[in-house]
Amino acid sequence: MEQLITGIHHVTAIASNAQKNLDFYSGILGLRLVKKTVNFDAPEVYHLYYGDEKGNPGSILTFFPYDGLIAGRHGKGMLNTTSFSLAGTSIEYWLNRLKRFGIAHKHPEERFQNEVVVYLEDTDGLGLELVFNDTDTRSGYSGGPVAAEHAIKGFFSVEIWEEGYERTAGLLTEQLDHKPIAEKGNRFRFAATDKPGNYIDLVCAPDSMKALAGSGTVHHLAFSTPTSVTQQSVRQRILQRMLNPTPVLDRNYFTSIYFREPGGVLFEIATELPGFSIDEAVEHLGARLQLPKQFENNREHLEKTLPSLAFNIENYQ
Ligand code: ZN
Repeated sequence: MEQLITGIHHVTAIASNAQKNLDFYSGILGLRLVKKTVNFDAPEVYHLYYGDEKGNPGSILTFFPYDGLIAGRHGKGMLNTTSFSLAGTSIEYWLNRLKRFGIAHKHPEERFQNEVVVYLEDTDGLGLELVFNDTDTRSGYSGGPVAAEHAIKGFFSVEIWEEGYERTAGLLTEQLDHKPIAEKGNRFRFAATDKPGNYIDLVCAPDSMKALAGSGTVHHLAFSTPTSVTQQSVRQRILQRMLNPTPVLDRNYFTSIYFREPGGVLFEIATELPGFSIDEAVEHLGARLQLPKQFENNREHLEKTLPSLAFNIENYQ
C-alpha cells in the first residue's frame, strides 16, 4: 500500500523575543532562516522558519515569537525535545562551540547504538538535543557560520512525553504509516521510513506534571505527506479514528490539516510542496518579509509594527 506519511515535516514552537531567537538558531546553531513571515492566524506576530539550504521537510523548526510571553512548562502531553542530527566526528567542535557561547548543556550520553546525545535548551528553555551519529548522509546548510562538515543536517528525532504511550503508538502505526523500531526503558521509538531524521520517541512519563503552553514549548509537530491527494487520504483515516481533523488550510508553502493526538499533542499533516521557493528564490530565502495575499495590503503597517531583526554572521563564526 502507498505510504501516505513519509516522516517529519516541521516542528513549530513558541518563543518570546524574536531577535534572541534569530541569534540562537541562525547564529549559535547555524541554521538558515528560510522564511520570515507572519502567523497567518495572528499577523502581528512573526512566523520564523529555520532549516537547511532549501528548507527541506525534516529540517524545518519554526517559531511564533511573542515578546514578553510567560514561560511554559515541559511535561506529559507535550513534545518536549527536538533533536538535531550531526556527524559523529563533530562532537568536539560542538562542545567547544557551546562553551564559547556560554550555552549550558548536559554531558554527552549514548542512547541507542551509535547515537551520542547532548541535551541543551534555547534562550526560552525549549528542549533541544544534538545527536552525533554516522548514519545521516544529508548535508547541512553551508552558508551559515558553522562549516559545512559540522553543520546540522536536519532533525534526528522528536521526543513526546505521554501518560501512557499505547494510544499514540496505535495512531502512529495504524493511521500514520509508522513502525516500532526500537525501545529502551520507558522510550519507544517509531519511524515512517528508515531515512534518518524521522524518529518519533514516545516516552512514558506518567509521574511528570502536565505540560503547560508558553514560551519555550512546542506548539505542534507536522508530518510530511507527498501531495494534496495523499493528504486527503490521511484526513479520511483521521476521521475514521474520530480525531476530528480540521479542513485543509493553505499555509502558502504547504497545505495542512491539524488534529490532537490522544496524549494531547497537536499534530499536523503538511504537504511536501510547493515549498519555500514559491515566493523568493532559494539564494534569497529569508531575506524579506513575505506575506500571503490576504495580508499584502497591510504590509506597510506590519513592517512598522513587527520588531526589526538584524543578524551579523561575523559574531558567530
Ligand atoms: Zn505547522
